[in-house]
Amino acid sequence: MSENVSSRFGSQDTYSQQMSERSPQIHSVAVIGGAVGGLAAAEGFSKRGFEVDLFERQSYDDKRVNCGEAMTAVSKIPLSSTPTNGFVNALPELRVEIYDGTASRRQLTGEGTFPASDTYITDRNVVERRWAERLAEKGVSIHENHQITKAKFRTLADEYDLLVDATGQPSITSKIRGRTDEYAGRMIAINADVEGDFSDLYPNSQIILEGYTGYAWAFSKSPERANVGIGWTESERPADYMAEFVAACERNGWPMPSRSQTNIAIIPEGPSLDPALTYLPEWPVVRVGDAAGLANRLTGKGISQAIQSSYLAAKLTAEGSLQEYPDRLYRMMKGEYLLARIMRHLVETRQMTVLGDAVQVVSGIDIEDIDRSPRAVLRRFLGHPRVAARIFSNPAVIKQTYAAVTDAWEYDTIQPV
Ligand SMILES: Cc1cc2nc3c(=O)[nH]c(=O)nc-3n(C[C@H](O)[C@H](O)[C@H](O)COP(=O)(O)OP(=O)(O)OC[C@H]3O[C@@H](n4cnc5c(N)ncnc54)[C@H](O)[C@@H]3O)c2cc1C
Repeated sequence: MSENVSSRFGSQDTYSQQMSERSPQIHSVAVIGGAVGGLAAAEGFSKRGFEVDLFERQSYDDKRVNCGEAMTAVSKIPLSSTPTNGFVNALPELRVEIYDGTASRRQLTGEGTFPASDTYITDRNVVERRWAERLAEKGVSIHENHQITKAKFRTLADEYDLLVDATGQPSITSKIRGRTDEYAGRMIAINADVEGDFSDLYPNSQIILEGYTGYAWAFSKSPERANVGIGWTESERPADYMAEFVAACERNGWPMPSRSQTNIAIIPEGPSLDPALTYLPEWPVVRVGDAAGLANRLTGKGISQAIQSSYLAAKLTAEGSLQEYPDRLYRMMKGEYLLARIMRHLVETRQMTVLGDAVQVVSGIDIEDIDRSPRAVLRRFLGHPRVAARIFSNPAVIKQTYAAVTDAWEYDTIQPV
């Protein structure tokens, strides 16, 4: 790579003009970040014959899990779904309950059960460790305990033909651009691996939506263990996260989390990043998973999205058409974004009765399809015109829908710094 690196990093505004250019010849790829998005990128690129190095700042032996650990579309992960590989509970169904209000005065407005055909509750750190081991056996160089700093990123840009940014949010790319505010929406979530009596719930799992923008969950791993957590949209985060977490467990009848085992993390609520910024050809860097701001805007679920985006980046690179990545990724996600935006609007405006009815209408659809296949969901609404009318006759919902179909997303309102 003969081009001057600092001039490349300085030319951030020109990326869009360059989108139409053909990808340069790419042989070597550095994947930065070794969670699901990065592992899928390493898988996708190495399978297609690229030389891949993966850099992960943590050790796979001590990786903290800031996640609910419900993995959908697990057949996309090239590991057999065994407990040894971290797939501890093949989830039969997810129960969703909607309440108006919180605490003791809350009222159930609707509930649904969602089958989960290709879904496991996992020990995610084990899945990631096993996946990394598999990649190492296949010739990918895995560099654990290897944090990529801004300076090191620039060196990597010189050494490799393509960088894949799988560092989550805010991504290393955002930090280098000096734009850690370029993600429009985010949710603050805390969770813990809790031991106690989950025998009433196991082998199923549960999500509770109440009168705040967010939700609480208990994803059971065994009759004695579950991943339990709660998340709030950033503007509604409470003063004392732990007190709210404990209160949510009390009112939902879940065993208590311990403070020492509790993690705090951020979920980017897609589409939180301008799709045009998912590929910066002049660096060249492609963003996948949470670094591309993909997690679902309503549910925060982002593992299958991270994997899918990485496989797409690898496929397009192999075809010499990486410049199509922003557009293809956006088209792949747009239906999901639209549906999540409408449903989220109901939560934000506290229309818990309408949301309760909506959940009952879509009950029975596979949980991956709920997020990822808006057609399946919209077809159900066509069969329930009264509920559909209550949702879609609302002028604010019409406005949301219009904004979404005309590509007026939240990231458009971010002011450049
Ligand atoms: C509390 C919580 C619960 C969630 N529950 C679920 C769920 O149940 N199901 C679901 O599908 N989704 C869930 N999500 C969303 C899901 O966790 C993310 O969408 C998913 O992890 C995105 O994967 P990723 O690989 O893109 O990024 P991340 O998982 O954020 O991984 C980024 C990786 O990059 C590494 N890294 C970061 N910076 C550097 C650096 N400079 N150098 C080297 N390495 C670096 C990190 O150590 C990490 O391993 C949840 C999120 C949260 C916060």
